[in-house]
Amino acid sequence: MTTTANVDPAELAKFSDLAHRWWDKESEFRPLHEINPLRLAWIDSIAPLAGKQVLDVGCGGGILADAMARKGAQVLGIDLATKSLKVAQLHALEAQTPQVSYREISAEALAQEQPAGFDTVTCMEMLEHVPNPDSIVRACAELVRPGGWVFFSTINRNAKAFAFAILGAEYVLRLLPRGTHEYARLIRPSELAQSCRGAGLEIAHTRGLEHNPLTGRYWLSQNTSVNYLVAAQRLPSNV
Ligand code: SAH
Repeated sequence: MTTTANVDPAELAKFSDLAHRWWDKESEFRPLHEINPLRLAWIDSIAPLAGKQVLDVGCGGGILADAMARKGAQVLGIDLATKSLKVAQLHALEAQTPQVSYREISAEALAQEQPAGFDTVTCMEMLEHVPNPDSIVRACAELVRPGGWVFFSTINRNAKAFAFAILGAEYVLRLLPRGTHEYARLIRPSELAQSCRGAGLEIAHTRGLEHNPLTGRYWLSQNTSVNYLVAAQRLPSNV
């Protein structure tokens, strides 16, 4: 790996250390399992998955990639954490998931190899873990075909997001290990919107992802103050 690669080895190590627990629904990855049906349904309602070529960037153990394949998409999941990819692959074999494969390659390198190669690109809960999220957004824009959809999700950066996503989730509720998220790496919707515009992606939909810690329930809303998702379409002129 070169020093200029857009990756933080400490971030990858965090995920690799936990890799054997990706499919344990009571583990540190429980929140991802719980939000998965919500984000899956939202993606499928905007860009129906059946029959599509889909790329999942920063796929981890394959929670979303696997579910999208089960909806009938042909899915490639990419990540740079070797152990997570092995777990994802093993899960696909054990669960006999059709049409899902995994590769260890950066989004930027795959964009050189397969420009406009996918109908839909998803990149969930990953931008806040890389040194240069703007470069990932650009790579996603290059990877999707003109007119295709790119979905991102990340965490907002403000006092409330700090209180809920870091203090609340890591220290009070212990939903996530301490140090999972670093405040300075969180991304405001306006910043993500600027990256999208610069990459030739037009944001068509934005949703907040809310959580009630008392009931454990998650739901999508208009409130983007903590967790949020965006759906952006690659402009046809960006060929
Ligand atoms: N997208 C998955 C996993 C999110 S966890 C989901 O939402 O279920 C964040 C993932 O980003 C981890 O799997 C981590 O290994 C990966 N990651 C971090 N930096 C990366 C990089 N530079 N390139 C690719 N993946 C990266």
